[in-house]
Amino acid sequence: MDHASAAPPGRGARMPRASRPVLFVIDDDAGVMQALRDDLSRRFGEDFRVLGETSAAAGLATLRGLADAGETVALLITDHDMAEMPGVEFLARAHDMHPLAKRVLLVERDYSARSPVVQAMMLGEADYHFTKPWTLEQDLYRMVSEFLAEWAKDRQAGFELFEVVGRPQDRRTHELGELLTRFNVPYGFHTADSEQGRRLIEHSGLDGSRLPVMIRHDDYTVVDPTLDQIITAIGASTHDDLDECDVVVIGAGPAGLTAAVYAASEGLLTVVLEETVSGGQAGSSPMIRNYPGFPHGVSGHELTRRTCEQAWMFGAHLVFAQQVAGLEARDGRHVVRMAGGRQVAATAVIIATGVTWRRLGVPRLEALVGSGVFYGVAGSETQAMAGRNVFVVGAGNSAGQAALHLARHAREVTVLVRGDSLARSMSEYLIREIEATANVAVCLRTEVIDAHGGDYLDTLTLRDTRHDRSRQVPAAALFVLIGGEPRTRWLPETIQLDTGGYILTGRDVVRDGSHPARWPLDRAPLPLETSMPGVFAAGDARDRSMKRVASAVGDGAAAVRLVHEYLEAGQEDDEDAGRISRPGRG
Ligand SMILES: Cc1cc2nc3c(=O)[nH]c(=O)nc-3n(C[C@H](O)[C@H](O)[C@H](O)COP(=O)(O)OP(=O)(O)OC[C@H]3O[C@@H](n4cnc5c(N)ncnc54)[C@H](O)[C@@H]3O)c2cc1C
Repeated sequence: MDHASAAPPGRGARMPRASRPVLFVIDDDAGVMQALRDDLSRRFGEDFRVLGETSAAAGLATLRGLADAGETVALLITDHDMAEMPGVEFLARAHDMHPLAKRVLLVERDYSARSPVVQAMMLGEADYHFTKPWTLEQDLYRMVSEFLAEWAKDRQAGFELFEVVGRPQDRRTHELGELLTRFNVPYGFHTADSEQGRRLIEHSGLDGSRLPVMIRHDDYTVVDPTLDQIITAIGASTHDDLDECDVVVIGAGPAGLTAAVYAASEGLLTVVLEETVSGGQAGSSPMIRNYPGFPHGVSGHELTRRTCEQAWMFGAHLVFAQQVAGLEARDGRHVVRMAGGRQVAATAVIIATGVTWRRLGVPRLEALVGSGVFYGVAGSETQAMAGRNVFVVGAGNSAGQAALHLARHAREVTVLVRGDSLARSMSEYLIREIEATANVAVCLRTEVIDAHGGDYLDTLTLRDTRHDRSRQVPAAALFVLIGGEPRTRWLPETIQLDTGGYILTGRDVVRDGSHPARWPLDRAPLPLETSMPGVFAAGDARDRSMKRVASAVGDGAAAVRLVHEYLEAGQEDDEDAGRISRPGRG
């Protein structure tokens, strides 16, 4: 990314020189500090002031002065090994004064597990690192540009593609925000009774009686928009004219999008049908730390947005707001039926419909979904939790990550766990990070049994299952991350599922005739092939899948390779499949 576009002032405006945000460098080796200042000034000096110090005391004094003067610090670049004070300690103190600054550790090249950066990153004491000595173009400029882009995004400064005016507690407002976030569309939110909100409503010639209102930068305005209208306003497609293609991919999460990239790039005419917008579960994950190639982590919606664009650039037909409701083999083709009745026929199909969150099943909680109760955590909600007490239900990695992410903004995060330990379900590194985070508490053997609030969540009732005691606690929000169930109910009975509803593939497909959905061919099913020849399953919806982004991506890519094998082997063996056509499971 070009450094100029990472600068915060919107629409390309340049800030007055004195108020430019600061890149702050501290290293007790004066030569290193000066070299870094010079290198940074050369590339970023137009948009940022580059300041430096060679002692921790002087550094903290300068940063205090900047904070008192209301100056913005974008990056705190700190040598990890200063004689006077360890780098992480300096970062912690400096960050207290400039909480929005990104913290960067400057370390020696040392790829051992003992490198200080490993622990600092794991415990969330630094956001990024880079090594010294550095090369200008490959290391310093590229990485600093990326850090600044993330900093600018967090500040939500810059060009807003949409302005949304609504009531913050409103479910529709929440849904709209979530969709815009998943599409990575920059937007500003204004409450209907704020000055800016009133001004925007008036400017649009509306009376504000119907909310939310979505106003695009070119004044195109939609009141209480439907999913279709939102997607169209963003510039994505909800319709496609194709009724024949090589491959239909169902679902645009990591598995489906990757399948689309590979299928389209390898010359297959590819249609992707997605019920909402692209991203899947990953699109609601604020930070994915374990996806290969992103040592500092990557936000799920950023990752899936890029994959979506890549699929589009290879020529995949991406169709959103299209729920698939049926699939049948007919005349050697696979006919995919959408909820609205439209059909598309394909030689092969890849099912990548993932899972959906399990529900807590407490009626008053369910009524508050979107109004203080959230399944999953979207980036849009976390900042709104600044200074509040929030709760997370769940004991898996998703719950752990959500708690840590929320802890960056919330006053206190309480993780509610039904069982008596986190160790069975959460990765060790997350448990350690939680233990090291002062504002995250864990309550074991605790269930949420009720919720209270008018339009918005106000109080939760928790039950301590060990002593069978209940108590009420004030709560600004509850985030539920208790796993999911596969999105496979709509599949025809010819596709074999396990008892949990996950799709059986490859050698797990029952072939001995003991299953009502008989495998119809002499050849064995290919890996990832379902019991309907030519139909493959990828990602979380598949039985024995890993439930990780990288494995879903791997499945998506592998499924396309197998589609080629299916096509190359010829479909003559599979002609029998054409006779199989049964109703859905309902
Ligand atoms: C909050 C959160 C944090 C996570 N963090 C991590 C992490 O840090 N690391 C990691 O590796 N994994 C993480 N995961 C898990 C990871 O996101 C999933 O494993 C991954 O997204 C699965 O990808 P998928 O494509 O198989 O399914 P999904 O991501 O579930 O995508 C399925 C898509 O199919 C669509 N769909 C469903 N039914 C239909 C239908 N009938 N018609 C059309 N479309 C349909 C859905 O709308 C959805 O977009 C996290 C998950 C969550 C929720």
